[in-house]
Amino acid sequence: MKQQREGLLLVVSGPAGVGKGTVDQALMSRNSKIKMSVSATTRAPRPGEIEGVHYFFKSEEEFKAMVDNGEFLEYMHVFGSNYYGTPRFFVEEQLAMGHDVILEIDVQGAMKVKQAFPNAVLIFITAPSMSEIKSRLIGRGTESMEQIERRFATAFEEVKMIPHYDYVIVNDVVDMAVHRMESILEAERCRVSRSKDLLESIQDTGR
Ligand code: 5GP
Repeated sequence: MKQQREGLLLVVSGPAGVGKGTVDQALMSRNSKIKMSVSATTRAPRPGEIEGVHYFFKSEEEFKAMVDNGEFLEYMHVFGSNYYGTPRFFVEEQLAMGHDVILEIDVQGAMKVKQAFPNAVLIFITAPSMSEIKSRLIGRGTESMEQIERRFATAFEEVKMIPHYDYVIVNDVVDMAVHRMESILEAERCRVSRSKDLLESIQDTGR
């Protein structure tokens, strides 16, 4: 019997450069019912980033108007000057349709989501060590040395938040990291607390 369930809200955080995006994309490509929320941001697009795919790129005025209209599930002012926020509508719509939704957001945003949605599953993706995080940031080649240093300092603060997450995944080999993520999802889907419809139908059978 197929289990019926509500969509899972998955919050994925981790230092810049650890490959969160790669793991999330691989996961989605294997499961059509997993959707990725696209955040809005005031930061400039990096080379290759596409409007509406990687982010909705906004001016500060546009972003603040969205805040005033209550359009964000959560939003955050990160790295000194840029705003990032999760548009509420898409997430609520997809969850209601029974789809799982991934939010790839920072640690502060993750804590806010956990407060608003206690059933959300918080997953922290990291590299095996801080030195590996630094070399991945440099290897990415998309930022200045100053930006890299700033992101590395942020990474130090972020890993201190791991105890507040439900799961931690070391992204050493991408396929393994994706497999770990799938295992977490499978287990979460089987939680008794998420299987109300299933429990009712089991009890109905044979009457
Ligand atoms: P990047 O500039 O490298 O794309 O993202 C910088 C940080 O902002 C990352 O930690 C990313 O997860 C986080 N971020 C992206 N979108 C959101 C969002 O909607 N809300 C919050 N709180 N953080 C976000």
